[in-house]
Amino acid sequence: MAKCEVCSNDYDMSFEVHAQGQVHTFDSFECAIHRMAPQCEHCGCRIVGHGVQAGDHWYCCAHCARAEGEHAIVDRAEARV
Ligand SMILES: [Zn+2]
Ligand SMILES: [Zn+2]
Repeated sequence: MAKCEVCSNDYDMSFEVHAQGQVHTFDSFECAIHRMAPQCEHCGCRIVGHGVQAGDHWYCCAHCARAEGEHAIVDRAEARV
């Protein structure tokens, strides 16, 4: 069975993640997130959902993007009346 590349656990339920031409092997989503998920540039948390991309910058939410000066970013577009 394949070994997790993060914690080296040799686990029969391990799985592969194919990303950007590379194959990564993990025993758990926790390890996959640890290795693969981008980090919010404001608060440092792992971005597991869609996150917010502003140019070359990644944030976990619109609040963090705005805190770093990305004022155009909002979580949802409110209908302005
Ligand atoms: Zn692992
Ligand atoms: Zn954040």
